[in-house]
Amino acid sequence: MTKHLLLASFFTACVLQADPSGAVHCGRLLDVRSGTYVADALVVFQNGVVTSVGPASRVSLPAGVTPVDLSGAVCLPGLIDVHDHLTANPEHAGYQSLGISVPRQALTGAANARKTLMAGFTGVRNVGAAGFTDVALRDAINAGDVPGPRMFVSGPPLGITGGHCDEDLLAPEFHFRADGVADGPWAARAKVRENIKYGVDLIKVCASGGVLSKGDLPGAPQYTFEELQAIADEAHKLGRKVAAHAHGTQSIKDSIRAGIDSIEHSSLIDDEGIALAKQHGTYLVFDIYNDDYILKEGLKAGMLPESIEKEKGIGKLQRQNFRHAYLSGTKMAFGTDGGVYPHGDNARQFAIMVEYGMKPLEAIQAATVNAADLVGWAGKAGVVAPGSYADLIAVNGDPLEDVKVLERVRFVMKGGEVYRNEQQPVLAAAGRR
Ligand SMILES: [Zn+2]
Repeated sequence: MTKHLLLASFFTACVLQADPSGAVHCGRLLDVRSGTYVADALVVFQNGVVTSVGPASRVSLPAGVTPVDLSGAVCLPGLIDVHDHLTANPEHAGYQSLGISVPRQALTGAANARKTLMAGFTGVRNVGAAGFTDVALRDAINAGDVPGPRMFVSGPPLGITGGHCDEDLLAPEFHFRADGVADGPWAARAKVRENIKYGVDLIKVCASGGVLSKGDLPGAPQYTFEELQAIADEAHKLGRKVAAHAHGTQSIKDSIRAGIDSIEHSSLIDDEGIALAKQHGTYLVFDIYNDDYILKEGLKAGMLPESIEKEKGIGKLQRQNFRHAYLSGTKMAFGTDGGVYPHGDNARQFAIMVEYGMKPLEAIQAATVNAADLVGWAGKAGVVAPGSYADLIAVNGDPLEDVKVLERVRFVMKGGEVYRNEQQPVLAAAGRR
């Protein structure tokens, strides 16, 4: 009994409700598609899936179900970050990264998965992890071993020898190459096949240079068009989408023309790139919050001095190009590059997106319906509707008036399990059952 109580008090902060059937009663529920509110809304779910939603007066409550009381709060679908690295931390940047083992990265991922979920992100697309740590973390979360968001994972990102997704910190005598290095169309195809063999949901490719890597240039192409085409073709043939890391103008266009599904960073996109993205229906993902963190904290965190200089060169341009792409009507999904800045701060990007032109609703759509569409979760996540996962968060305040309320999420439910509830005292909430 004592042991049971101890365990109960340990887990109440984590899972308040282990049965994925029940209901929540929201003061208001945001329909993220239309931008309208349903007042006094009831959401009923069974086995983790929503069965009915609507005004409490019109939705019938199954016998014996007491809804979670969120009558003082605004509810919306759980948020999705389509560019995350749960197994990495900012203080693991630069030379310090060489001392972090693959098993340690997996455990770092478990801690970050919890932080991210508690911050209201019930889904992430993890685009780049060493040693298939992201596959292991996804499977551990799905098995209920550790709390975390739904994960859609890429495994090791494909890249050229010496490129952004290789490891360039070690001297030649170490003969080290990163997991995802593959040069030439056929080697790249083989790497796509290998990643799929070990359980990835999508393919990540480093098309251009990057900021945090040593000795390369964000604007310079790395993979050739021919290689990108081979990667996209092989991945699509095997039923996987492709996300391309591309800061550089040419690499963005090469990736879009190769049929890649989303452009990550998109920093130096030009008018032609924007037109191509619209024509091909390619999603653009602009990680425009982390510039603040890199410039302020990057050196202290261990990032290379050259990385700070590179960020100074493209950070502002990326924000301006975000505004331009948004005004041009490209498809956009919310991705932050979590791990470059501390996990759990993902929602800080909403305010930057609004500062650079989006309406709060559009920024929220980028992190819900658009993100779900890109990942392949349309209708299942990013909405609260019959047939969707019971993934729902609540905030105090109106996110359409002040998007920053999303930085203070008070309630988190994933698949009908409540992981956070600050709307009512934790013990009272647990005791109701
Ligand atoms: Zn990234």
